[in-house]
Amino acid sequence: MDDCLFCRIIQGAVPSETVYQDDYVYAFRDISPQAPVHVLVVPREHIESSAQLNAENSHFAAKCFEAISTIAKNEALDSGFRVITNSGIDGGQSVPHLHFHLLGGKTLGAGLI
Ligand code: 5GP
Ligand code: ZN
Repeated sequence: MDDCLFCRIIQGAVPSETVYQDDYVYAFRDISPQAPVHVLVVPREHIESSAQLNAENSHFAAKCFEAISTIAKNEALDSGFRVITNSGIDGGQSVPHLHFHLLGGKTLGAGLI
């Protein structure tokens, strides 16, 4: 997916600050952080959004959450964190490659959820 920003970040064609990586997952700091810790956790396979998850590719989502657990420990988010994924136009998704926002490092307010 040459025209996908996050595929290009995974390939290293667009620079990013790597936080974690394995065979299934790449994680990097958001360019416009909304909290002291704001990491984007993405599957290496191009999956457009959570609406495209199915029995064949859902292991990528599981691997993302395994990574989130590891990153949260590495980033010392011991008192908690929030995970958000936007999907589609109404969900406010701006980059059409499935990603999980890992937010923490402060007490997050009572927001939408
Ligand atoms: P969405 O709105 O799709 O849920 O989230 C996309 C996220 O990608 C936003 O939080 C935005 O700040 C982040 N983002 C957009 N372009 C870049 C980029 O080039 N590098 C990094 N590290 N983050 C980006
Ligand atoms: Zn992609």
